[in-house]
Amino acid sequence: MSTDCLFCQISQGKMSTQFLYEDDIIVVFKDINPMAPVHLLLVPKEHIRSINDLEPDQASIISHMFMKAKEMAKEQGINESGYRLFFNVEKGGGQEVFHLHLHLIGGWKEGRK
Ligand code: AMP
Repeated sequence: MSTDCLFCQISQGKMSTQFLYEDDIIVVFKDINPMAPVHLLLVPKEHIRSINDLEPDQASIISHMFMKAKEMAKEQGINESGYRLFFNVEKGGGQEVFHLHLHLIGGWKEGRK
């Protein structure tokens, strides 16, 4: 864990952030600045800076994140209307928090604009 990393602090339960889901590997919480009616972040507890830093033995974390994202979409009632899943990678890719996280966004009434 990195003490100056926001998502390390959040995923270790050191902030007041409420989790929609937690297990030994990941936490899921609402994005503080949502870009859609539903905007969740799926965050591994292990500090990994970005997809660029992912090692082969960490691949199971990513598959776990996607499987959980699918479940969370259903739980949020957006699985049938549709949603987006994405990673921003480094500054040029729009990454602002340098601790790996998967965005789950959806819930637009008339589909994605
Ligand atoms: P990215 O641009 O991919 O690094 O995404 C970082 C996301 O984290 C942004 O959508 C922010 O709104 C979100 N964010 C930043 N701080 C917090 C926080 N304390 N709690 C929840 N989400 C946050």
